[in-house]
Amino acid sequence: MNSFKYLQPKSLQDAGSLMQQNKNALLFAGGTDALGLIKNNIISPENLVNLKQIKGLNEIKYTPGKEIKIGALVNLVDIAAHPVITEKFTVLAEAANSIASPQFRNVATIGGNICQRPRCFYFRGDFHCIRKGGDLCYAAAGENKYHCIVGGDPCYIIHPSDSAVALLALDAKFSIYSDKKLKLVSAWDFFILPSVDPTRENILKPGEILESVVIPEPDKGSKSRYIKFMEREVFDFAVVSVAAVVKKSEGKIAKGSIAFGGVAPKPWHIDALNKSLTGLSTEEENITEFSKKTFTDASPLEKNGYKIPLVRNLLKRILIDLTV
Ligand SMILES: Cc1cc2nc3c(=O)[nH]c(=O)nc-3n(C[C@H](O)[C@H](O)[C@H](O)COP(=O)(O)OP(=O)(O)OC[C@H]3O[C@@H](n4cnc5c(N)ncnc54)[C@H](O)[C@@H]3O)c2cc1C
Repeated sequence: MNSFKYLQPKSLQDAGSLMQQNKNALLFAGGTDALGLIKNNIISPENLVNLKQIKGLNEIKYTPGKEIKIGALVNLVDIAAHPVITEKFTVLAEAANSIASPQFRNVATIGGNICQRPRCFYFRGDFHCIRKGGDLCYAAAGENKYHCIVGGDPCYIIHPSDSAVALLALDAKFSIYSDKKLKLVSAWDFFILPSVDPTRENILKPGEILESVVIPEPDKGSKSRYIKFMEREVFDFAVVSVAAVVKKSEGKIAKGSIAFGGVAPKPWHIDALNKSLTGLSTEEENITEFSKKTFTDASPLEKNGYKIPLVRNLLKRILIDLTV
């Protein structure tokens, strides 16, 4: 492991300047991903810019009936236990509570969870793959059981963040510090596909920092959930996950928003699917038929075709759970 300078800015402005001035610098929050990447020589930053001295980034502000704003440094454990989040933004509390172990959740931040790097074993291993600036995705013809079924070409990672999937279903906006100002972008636009740039997972440029997430309060009467399929029952990443926010009225879905994890290089949603939820009768056979029609355009790799029936079944289960 190379030695590095540890920089401790007190404001977003100083952190942004340090990121721009210092060659090869990395933002540092809880460190649970950053330190693993450094220790395993996946990255060798010369400067770590610690965000934890910056005031206000660890706050949660709720405006009843409007939105909740969660600072980038809020720990996952505090999101999972927050009374307003568990009641009104349940899908996010459940997603946060499903991440890693209590020890990790005590330290890991929502900003770091959203900006963490992929878990692909070629990226994390001793391979100069396309995500590290090489010219090949070794998963395409190699071990690809855990890789994506949509949006992959030319790099077949899946995005590992559970919280990001919940935030996409909740139609969250991400507040980004950029060039001395804050700008808001939608969760969908924050993440990028490998066809745009296979070496990055999001739009952040050097000097830009995720400041907070802003989530509109779901309509009165909505319910939300997160279901995550893991190989081990605890302390594991999602093989596939589904986040849903649904409002039911008179035996039909009045409004719904679904997001998927474990299927694509970014948290995934399908516009047409969300639109076609409106008016869907909530009888089990309708929901089963509806779920069967999803991911018909998926292009699984040699070993991950099982994800298609898996994601359809999770979708069916979550819609039934939320509409009984
Ligand atoms: C054993 C294990 C199991 C795990 N299981 C899961 C799981 O089930 N689900 C899941 O979602 N995750 C899982 N994780 C990942 C874990 O949740 C992340 O490591 C953690 O959330 C990262 O948060 P952090 O604050 O420690 O970020 P750090 O490690 O400090 O940073 C992570 C990355 O984000 C960047 N970053 C941090 N904050 C910001 C910011 N505000 N703006 C811009 N960039 C920023 C850093 O530069 C770095 O690249 C697991 C990790 C391990 C090691």
